[in-house]
Amino acid sequence: MRQIAIIGSGPAGYYTAEAALKRWGTDVRIDIFDCLPVPYGLIRSGVAPDHQSIKGVTRRYEQTALAENVRFVGNVTVGRDVGVPELRQLYDAVVLATGAPRDRPLGIPGEDLGNVIGSAAFVGWYNGHPQFTDLEPDLSGRHAVVIGMGNVALDVARILSKRECEFEGSDIVNHALHALCNSGIQSITVVGRRGPHQIMMTPKELGELASLERASPRVDPRDLPDAEEDAFLEPGLRKAVAHLRSFAAIPESHHADKEIEIAFDFFAKPAALYGSGKVGEIELETTTVATGRAVGTGETYRIPADLVISCIGYRTSPIPDVPFDERAGRFASDEGRILPGLYCVGWARRGPSGTIGTNRPDGANIVERIAEDIEANALGRSGKPGGEGFDRLARDRKLEIVTFSDWKKIEEAEELAAREGSPREKFVDVAAMIRALD
Ligand code: NAP
Repeated sequence: MRQIAIIGSGPAGYYTAEAALKRWGTDVRIDIFDCLPVPYGLIRSGVAPDHQSIKGVTRRYEQTALAENVRFVGNVTVGRDVGVPELRQLYDAVVLATGAPRDRPLGIPGEDLGNVIGSAAFVGWYNGHPQFTDLEPDLSGRHAVVIGMGNVALDVARILSKRECEFEGSDIVNHALHALCNSGIQSITVVGRRGPHQIMMTPKELGELASLERASPRVDPRDLPDAEEDAFLEPGLRKAVAHLRSFAAIPESHHADKEIEIAFDFFAKPAALYGSGKVGEIELETTTVATGRAVGTGETYRIPADLVISCIGYRTSPIPDVPFDERAGRFASDEGRILPGLYCVGWARRGPSGTIGTNRPDGANIVERIAEDIEANALGRSGKPGGEGFDRLARDRKLEIVTFSDWKKIEEAEELAAREGSPREKFVDVAAMIRALD
């Protein structure tokens, strides 16, 4: 019997469990740990609340979760409630699928000013992640600046622009819905240090900006390269750039009809943030792109910024006793192998890139590596206690474990509490989740 612990119940965790079940059937026992009492990680707390169809993938994860030899072990923080060395004693393989939940710093003066917020925090806030419930971003100012030209920047710009009725069918949490619907924001500047041909946005997500009720996207045609140059782009990027071209062609009269403008500011590198206590302005340095890299020209300008959300990528949280690559912001591994019997997968292995589906082959690959190591080192014949051993430890430490059937009760309570048209109203703090079990 192989005993596997997977730390993290997001896409990487569940795809790893799915691959392990496929490989070993009933000859494996899998415990999936999560620090929250609720599963699904990024799907619950990262995917935008108005992108419900993406969240539908949890039905697939639930099939895995309900297998007899798979357990959800919620409300346990690995590194605090139980150490990685302890888990390595108990399980044949420990797989870190902890994602990349921390914001990458901007590394510019003024970053510590109020209302300068990383996307992990801001997205966590509107998605009801307990860690960010009390964020209270100040949305009363007129000018928001979103830094980064990836899909997270798009999510943030779109969520900041929507009217209340455009959130129908979403599971945005009440505190965020209320704050967003009372916001004073009239302009959102999306800042990219490189040009239109270097955006990381995907066409479907970028195209959504064109159908917002009260906002219109604006691109300065002078920023666009000659149209013939688009032919050299890979097809997805070419489609995305076609959206930018259509935004550049939007007539002034259309912009004038809208309450909010989403302006793309290309070739602009954040240099500093200014304000007293709270941010009020951002200084940007114009750039040129040379061999794919943004090169500062030394010329700077300032724009108003009452709220700054940096969407420039994420870092994995280190865990005690696990080698960490500080520069890359993820665990130090050789294609997922960290130490004997210790692995990483998904964003914790490769960094924050790709789609949710990218984690599926990632999960299959790590299971292949575990299988090779099991064969080479006779793991799985060591008689490690696995979950039974963990249960003893949890009892001794009086850990309040949340099981998958407990989660189903929390889910039911969230569904019952949903406002009309919404699939759920999430609990936004851990104590409320636990109370729902009484
Ligand atoms: P991303 O795609 O890597 O984009 C990060 C952006 O930040 C890039 O434009 C990058 O510019 C910029 N950036 C990085 N460091 C910067 C700095 N110091 N100053 C200014 N700009 C900086 O990351 P993401 O948007 O966080 O997305 C993470 C992953 O999740 C991606 O794979 C994304 O596709 C995925 N995602 C998908 C969806 C969806 O499919 N609906 C939604 C959200 C996220 P450079 O290119 O110049 O470095």
